[in-house]
Amino acid sequence: MKLIYLDNAATTAVDKTVITAMEPYFDNDYGNPSEWHSSGRMAKIAVEESRNKIAKFLGSNPDEIVFTSCATESINLSHKGLVEAVSSDFKPGSKPNVVVTPIEHKAVLETCRHMEEKGEITVTYLPIDKYGLVNPEDIVIAIKPDTILVSVMYVNNEIGTVEPVAKIGDTIRKINKSGREHRIFFHTDATQAIQYLNCRVNFLGIDFLSFTGHKIYAPKGIGVLYVRQSTPLIRQSDGGDQERGLRAGTEDVPYIVGLGRAVEIAKRTRLSVLPKISRLRKRLMKGLLAIPGVKLTGHPVKRAPHIASFTVSGAEGEAMVLLLSDMGIIASSGSACTSARLTASHVLTAIGVSAETSHGSLRFSLGKETTESEIDEVIKKLPKVITKLRDMSPLTKL
Ligand code: PLP
Repeated sequence: MKLIYLDNAATTAVDKTVITAMEPYFDNDYGNPSEWHSSGRMAKIAVEESRNKIAKFLGSNPDEIVFTSCATESINLSHKGLVEAVSSDFKPGSKPNVVVTPIEHKAVLETCRHMEEKGEITVTYLPIDKYGLVNPEDIVIAIKPDTILVSVMYVNNEIGTVEPVAKIGDTIRKINKSGREHRIFFHTDATQAIQYLNCRVNFLGIDFLSFTGHKIYAPKGIGVLYVRQSTPLIRQSDGGDQERGLRAGTEDVPYIVGLGRAVEIAKRTRLSVLPKISRLRKRLMKGLLAIPGVKLTGHPVKRAPHIASFTVSGAEGEAMVLLLSDMGIIASSGSACTSARLTASHVLTAIGVSAETSHGSLRFSLGKETTESEIDEVIKKLPKVITKLRDMSPLTKL
């Protein structure tokens, strides 16, 4: 049975041409880029070529790109590294403040919570509306004299809502220009946006941008942190001087090469892939919203092209995922990182969905290989799954 894979927001397959690009760096050009001999130089050239490709894609300088192992590591580096770098500017009794949305990925929320628990920062949570949208004007209200970082994700991974990152960047730029003791830096988690939305750093007005390779057809285990020049940052791993001293440890050359290739493909195929995915996602939404008791989560229009997310009354998300999986359809309930737990998703809770309703959450995330017939198959099969689960539940009510 060929799988209908609709969990691309959790992870994607590695593109065949990415694998081909990586292959020589495992057993042929396998030198250590820190060495000066010819093998080392070959590896170094490959790493720098990939850095150039990513910099070009983001409209940045190559030396503003730091390779990491994943988005989570990138976020730990930016948030902890900035706080450590600026904390000596604070007088005793005061500490840096970080402003975030309550629907950030755990990579941001847990990093901030950890620093807060250690007494290193205070955290302010921005209000969001029922779609998960931030109002840039609320940034002005949330910012305090001690604020040093605002972190707002570009696309929410569970509900697909696209945040007005460029407008927020503009707002922060104006606040910084008005003269402050502590400059505010701006981070966006672009993990779900990188291949579909404009991620050019000057367009967004950001100082930090993070993403991970395995959502864009590169392997798991490679990520990027963009750091604007002159941004204060202290490395969070001690050791060698790799990555301009910001990330110790021998570079993962094959994976770095693979990521460069994946970004190149994303750039080249965006024009053709994006309208197709967007059209198919709308078709899926229309088909599923016609089922009684199915409601959309996230913004109806301001949403990423690849994420369709719902709540289904009278059916458990995990049970739907398992039954769909038995039929060869791969979806998820909430995000991959929270679906192993039966606690309500923090994202759905933050947008006002009750714990009971959020247990019926279901997310389909499309990829570049998704076809119309696969979407139609889901539209045909999901009602059967829902009916079966509702029939089994004595409590079912629409
Ligand atoms: N940020 C977002 C929006 C994500 O969707 C994910 C992964 O689900 C991450 C961060 C973390 O990515 P990784 O697990 O590769 O570090």
